[in-house]
Amino acid sequence: MKRVEIIKLLEAGEVGATVCVKGWVRTKRGSKNVAFIALNDGTCLNSIQVVADVDQFAEDDLRRITTGASISVSGELAASKGAGQKVEIVAEQLEILGEAPADEYPLQPKKHSMEFLRDIAHLRFRTNTFSAVFRIRHALSFSVHEFFNKNGFYHIHTPIITGSDAEGAGEMFKVTNFDLNNIPRNEEGAIDFRQDFFESETNLTVSGQLEAELAALALSKVYTFGPTFRAENSNTSRHLAEFWMIEPEVAFADLAENMDLAQDFLRYTINYVLENCKEDLNFLNRRFEEIESKKPKNERSDSGLIEKLEYVLRDDFKRITYSEAIDILRNCKPNKKKKFNYIIEGWGADLQSEHERYLVEKHFKSPVIIYDYPADIKAFYMRQNDDNQTVAAMDVLFPGIGEIIGGSQREERLDVLKKKMADFNIPEDEMQWYLDTRRFGTVPHSGFGLGFERLMLFVTGMTNIRDVIAFPRTPGNAKF
Ligand code: ATP
Ligand code: MG
Repeated sequence: MKRVEIIKLLEAGEVGATVCVKGWVRTKRGSKNVAFIALNDGTCLNSIQVVADVDQFAEDDLRRITTGASISVSGELAASKGAGQKVEIVAEQLEILGEAPADEYPLQPKKHSMEFLRDIAHLRFRTNTFSAVFRIRHALSFSVHEFFNKNGFYHIHTPIITGSDAEGAGEMFKVTNFDLNNIPRNEEGAIDFRQDFFESETNLTVSGQLEAELAALALSKVYTFGPTFRAENSNTSRHLAEFWMIEPEVAFADLAENMDLAQDFLRYTINYVLENCKEDLNFLNRRFEEIESKKPKNERSDSGLIEKLEYVLRDDFKRITYSEAIDILRNCKPNKKKKFNYIIEGWGADLQSEHERYLVEKHFKSPVIIYDYPADIKAFYMRQNDDNQTVAAMDVLFPGIGEIIGGSQREERLDVLKKKMADFNIPEDEMQWYLDTRRFGTVPHSGFGLGFERLMLFVTGMTNIRDVIAFPRTPGNAKF
């Protein structure tokens, strides 16, 4: 008999129909006469209940059906007496596809810590929490492509291996084909990259932006959605060494239009998940509330997960300049009472996540876009403002996360860009291809980068970025 997915049965299974389902046992309980098996195939959060009359099956078979075992069940759908489900299956045939001996299988029907589950990331997909997270990750990713497609953007696949080191000096992973025990050297004793695979020094990309700019200056609106890599040793709950970045780039758009795009984009994707992942979100919402309820009162979130998502859809994000942000921060209580780890002394300071979160969570109680940052603390390609001190940069800050998007209007004037590169010690000859777009038919353009896992953190209410990507890469860990 052909297998039916459990999601289809729970949505539209008709009492009396004979069906076959396959999946993994979540729990088995029962009495002397009947066994109740909760069977889950990952197509949705809920399991289907299988009812097996103990007399009809070999005792040994029933004994081998334990949490984690995979089985195939055929039988008739009956109206369920249990709460929360319309139908259950009365088993006529049971086949064990794969056992999961209880004394060896690490996942048991009890609460496991997130740390423990990270150690068994190959099995954690089989928990309710992680299956919900990864179904939402799919939906969120789909909504990203849908948003851009509906708005006339073209998806560009930018390279993962890159020869340019413009952005992340010292933070890049090297790509080489050298025998590490015998690295060729030139006459001066330096590593001779001419003998390497690409005949030049190469790295894993930290961003697809520069290449996306080249495409935007021909196709008008493009975006990238690919893996990016940072060898920064920041062991935080918001940084990964390998993460997925979404980078739209738009010709003829200024910073204000860039901010509009960021807001529209975030709202579209969040709304998509609210509308299409109700069951999983409700589950994560309950999980969120349970975790919050155990925190001390003053640390508790004042709204539930779903409320937080709906809230973002309601009002426009607050927009303030960097200078305004500094004024607020300099005079705020935690700064005056020296509660911040980094005290804000004055204009020019780089904002840390504690400052960003203060602005979002305490001061404005709303997502905030900060723009017009000091040129010194931002990248070379950001457009110089007329004050000669600030650049047309913007960061979007979200509650619980801090920075979720970083973007800017790009410097389109060849002479200004060249001067900036000289100030930043970026050799022009390595960047001829980039400068060419300013030499030939240059136009104002803007774009931003969104860390997909940061958005995942916000949408799922998970608190550690390691728990929203299947196999996290962090300092000291590249397991699986
Ligand atoms: P942060 O200050 O949080 O380290 P950043 O300024 O280094 O961020 P950008 O270089 O502007 O970040 O990258 C754009 C976006 O990519 C950020 O807004 C963030 O959402 C995401 N991001 C940056 N670094 C990481 C990382 N190590 N892991 C996951 N996401 C990241
Ligand atoms: Mg960083």
